[in-house]
Amino acid sequence: MRIETDFKLDFKDVLIRPKRSTLGSRSEVDINRTFRFRSGIDWTGFPLVAANMDVTGSMGMAVALSSFGAMTALHKHYPVEKLIEFFGREDTSNVFFSLGTTESDREKLAAVKQHARIDKICLDVANGYTEKFVQLVSEIRDENPEAVIMAGNVVTGDMTEALILAGADIIKVGIGPGSVCTTRKMTGVGYPQLSAIIECADAAHGLKGYVCADGGCTVPGDIAKAYGAGADFVMLGGMLAGHDECEGEIEYEERDGERVAVGMTFYGMSSDTAMQRYSGGVAGYRASEGKTVRVPYRGPVTHTMQEITGGVRSMMTYIGAMRLKEVPKRTSFVMVGAQLNNIFG
Ligand code: 5GP
Repeated sequence: MRIETDFKLDFKDVLIRPKRSTLGSRSEVDINRTFRFRSGIDWTGFPLVAANMDVTGSMGMAVALSSFGAMTALHKHYPVEKLIEFFGREDTSNVFFSLGTTESDREKLAAVKQHARIDKICLDVANGYTEKFVQLVSEIRDENPEAVIMAGNVVTGDMTEALILAGADIIKVGIGPGSVCTTRKMTGVGYPQLSAIIECADAAHGLKGYVCADGGCTVPGDIAKAYGAGADFVMLGGMLAGHDECEGEIEYEERDGERVAVGMTFYGMSSDTAMQRYSGGVAGYRASEGKTVRVPYRGPVTHTMQEITGGVRSMMTYIGAMRLKEVPKRTSFVMVGAQLNNIFG
């Protein structure tokens, strides 16, 4: 047994220190980035990704976020016909096709590729540390030489490097920070997310790869911190749940004789809810590592996206970063004991 004694940090442990700058207004800053991937594909946009969860990784979300230049990783449970139709109809340069490790996921990808171009692939498993997963990444790379491949999830530099060397362009970082994740509770395994981003970004950038910070953002300031820590992309589940564009069931209540939307069910992809839905229950050898919650109904996602983009822009003016790419260079984190005044809840 070994103990690492250097302290690892979460979003809640730090704040970003303001810096002198010549920037006058938040309208002067550019929240878009251009990436050139090893596969030769270029992409420009606001590097935020809706998580490939049932509720948030919807086709409706993909269309809505695209209007902000942001991306969506579609969940992997769409029927093949629907995917063919969607990829054939829409501009999908902001859309990831998601797959897990099953043969049927791969067959689905092959079937859709016969009808439409798929140039972004999200390949993810709860635990990206197995040899089998590294092997799978390299097979998917061989089969899709021209696609951008995002793979994960991992939380350390060594595994980030291994997945990039196996052919991934973007490494998805995060084990246990998610809003509906119970991995840390069930297994005791995890890594504080801010430190995970810093360490994985360092490893990825050394190999000309990128990282996507996945999970744990609860407010726009957390997204700002993720970019500051070196995240090239940030993936959101919970912050995008509860909107009209989601695939969750909206719950209604009678209020003064009127039927009003009040909430939506949101659940982890390894929760009992998801396993019941797709695998007919939780297999005997495993426990669920996700929970099911009710989130408030929040209307169209446009408002939330404006809050997020506004928060990121404002952070950039505080630290004097004209472009999103400059943010990590201009970020100094200060460690804090407390960061919010909660007197009014
Ligand atoms: P959030 O933005 O809600 O904090 O985190 C979203 C991320 O949580 C997802 O992208 C995914 O990586 C992770 N996640 C989703 N469902 C589950 C689950 O059931 N269990 C665990 N451990 N993680 C989950």
